[in-house]
Amino acid sequence: MNIHEYQGKALLAKYGVNVPRGHVAYTADEAYAKSGELPGPVWVVKAQIHAGGRGKGGGVKLAKSRDEVKALAQKMLGMTLVTHQTGPEGKEVKRVYVEDGCDIKRELYLSMLVDRSSSRITVMASTEGGMDIEEVAAHSPEKIIRVAIDPVAGLQAFHARKIAFGLGLKDKQIGSAVKFLSGLYAAFVDLDMSLLEINPLVVTGAGDLIALDAKVNFDDNGLFRHPDIEALRDPDEENAAELEAGKHGLNYIKLDGNIGCMVNGAGLAMATMDIVKLYGAAPANFLDVGGGATKERVTTAFKIILADPNVEAILVNIFGGIMRCDVIAEGVVAAAREVALQVPLVVRLEGTNVALGKKILAESGLPITSADNLADAAEKVVQAVREAA
Ligand code: ADP
Ligand code: MG
Repeated sequence: MNIHEYQGKALLAKYGVNVPRGHVAYTADEAYAKSGELPGPVWVVKAQIHAGGRGKGGGVKLAKSRDEVKALAQKMLGMTLVTHQTGPEGKEVKRVYVEDGCDIKRELYLSMLVDRSSSRITVMASTEGGMDIEEVAAHSPEKIIRVAIDPVAGLQAFHARKIAFGLGLKDKQIGSAVKFLSGLYAAFVDLDMSLLEINPLVVTGAGDLIALDAKVNFDDNGLFRHPDIEALRDPDEENAAELEAGKHGLNYIKLDGNIGCMVNGAGLAMATMDIVKLYGAAPANFLDVGGGATKERVTTAFKIILADPNVEAILVNIFGGIMRCDVIAEGVVAAAREVALQVPLVVRLEGTNVALGKKILAESGLPITSADNLADAAEKVVQAVREAA
């Protein structure tokens, strides 16, 4: 789960991490009023959406007066902000953050994430902050400092000093960096974060360290321990179909292709998406219906897949292990009837009672195409879309 920058900063402040003062606002009048609680003479108005790259996209603006804060908020609220992370459709801005303007001397990069290859929380830092860190990683990887933290011992002062020296920090900044990193690490572990990115981490004209941006992702599997964080969820920022699928225990991720995929098992679902691509089309979604592909689950899954207007055909790829293929076939047929399916449906079944399952599909009277294997299924579904076009 993601949260907004202002929420991330509020959480980090509780752990002693230095962040600028600021207030969230939902209207231009509110932005104007809240700016009065900050000293000025420079304010920054920042669009709050769950995506980075706002600066380049026009979502971070400097104001030299409170009237300017109001005008900027007026312009930003309701606008569709397009950044390299939102996709071309962009995201509508519904909240802005009015923040103290910061006297920036240096922009650094700092992040913590769970590194699966070392099974450790890893701190990454670079002197090349503010800009696209992906570019730095691709073209000058030597500019990224990496420190893996032993989970038992936790972050130690020497880790923090190593990072501070690597960032070219000096004198009292070293001590500030130790405090800063200790706060970030404690927040990361306590709150079950999976990613914490401060870009930029700023050295101010006065030599202080301050987190000017905060991107926080939480591990969904740890959220049950943090109802206060769950409460920060912004449904406007989440895909409606994904939220709906989650309520039914379906693992659905919306993608931008035209072939709806319904598969049991995450691995098989990944393989199905790969093979759809191999045959020249693109999956409209990832969907793992789980073990019990019952009529109810299949019906719900069909409805979710079909709610996506891009879907031109559906590929069902189910392995009947514990669940028999004839039961699955009956479920698919009943579900297809219930939703009055209008798009071509290709079904590949494999496993127990597969012959009976295929017979049920063939005798259903519905335009269902049976496939014999994964490649055959992919070829047929791609073909069906081409013929319809
Ligand atoms: P994003 O990563 O989405 O572009 P940031 O919060 O990193 O958004 O802001 C982009 C840039 O805007 C920063 O690199 C910094 O130069 C500037 N900026 C952001 N917040 C402030 C602030 N409070 N004071 C001064 N400049 C800021
Ligand atoms: Mg940033």
